[in-house]
Amino acid sequence: MDISEIVIKGDTPGVEWRLPIIRFNGSDAKAPKIYIQAALHANELPGTALLHFLCEKLRQADADGTILSDITIVPQANPIGTAQSHFGDLQGRFDLGSRTNFNREFPLIPLSERQTLVEDLEHYPAVEQLKRQLLHMALGADLMLDLHCDDESVQYTYVDEAFWPEAADLASALDMGAVFLADGESSAFEEAVGYAWKHETAEKAKRLPGRLAVTVELRGTRDVYPDMAHKDADGLWRFLAARGAVRGTVAALQPYKGKVTPLDNIEMIRAPQAGAVLFHRTIGETVAAGDLLATIITAPGMEGGAIDIHAPQAGLIATRTSQRFARRRDNLMKIACDEPTKAVRKPGALEA
Ligand SMILES: [Zn+2]
Repeated sequence: MDISEIVIKGDTPGVEWRLPIIRFNGSDAKAPKIYIQAALHANELPGTALLHFLCEKLRQADADGTILSDITIVPQANPIGTAQSHFGDLQGRFDLGSRTNFNREFPLIPLSERQTLVEDLEHYPAVEQLKRQLLHMALGADLMLDLHCDDESVQYTYVDEAFWPEAADLASALDMGAVFLADGESSAFEEAVGYAWKHETAEKAKRLPGRLAVTVELRGTRDVYPDMAHKDADGLWRFLAARGAVRGTVAALQPYKGKVTPLDNIEMIRAPQAGAVLFHRTIGETVAAGDLLATIITAPGMEGGAIDIHAPQAGLIATRTSQRFARRRDNLMKIACDEPTKAVRKPGALEA
């Protein structure tokens, strides 16, 4: 095992960021190379907790000589975001300086240009330096897991169609409630990795066998508990064993039986008016078309001052906002459905 640090000079005098990187060296050059990071959105810590316990297992495996793959772990990938406390709240999703989502605007480059990511780094602002170094590390791997979480949510993952159904082993290993099949059209970290691989040769690849780039949503932001983190670390360990990254006796993975939903079939339930949100249903529940999901009190104390929101079609409530006041058009829930939504959706990520 080898621990190193990436040092990023701040954009103002007297500031620098230090990013610890943990590397385990595998004994089999043919085993897939692994890159796993957590908390790129700095306020999303279930993945950091998972990786803390996964590293315990990896240290033991390292001592036992059972690590086959080169494995790079970045347990807390965004020191810049982690430091952004604004009026007492950690603001880990957007860079306060540029207003850019920390998980967007990754460079979309072919794999052959990987090295350019880390050239002339001093010409870039600190956040871009961070993004370029993370992407550079990930593009040295075959399997990349970017660990995030939602607000209130079941365990689910975004998977580019190029990796499906091979990635069903990950969904099974992590006991996913849902898989969202993405169209690979954004500048999120996962999609920048997929983009580079798809453009490895002149003809754009549609399938990427032996590779994987996924955004894993480890439930909600508050789901940071010892039992969950241990369970997820055990799950990820089973995945690593199934892919030949570590050697050990683990139970074979069962076929994935959860929901698999293209992004076009996700109903984003939005607040038609502002008001206090009273939920009738919660994550993990299956609803029928027309079921009452939430009541919004738009004019408190007034006759007719509340509106009910109903399910547009049957599906699984995958996520829910933790906020109890909604502005007009705020997203309240994501429901994974069998039919495409009738709402207009642009290609790419579901959320800004
Ligand atoms: Zn996130």
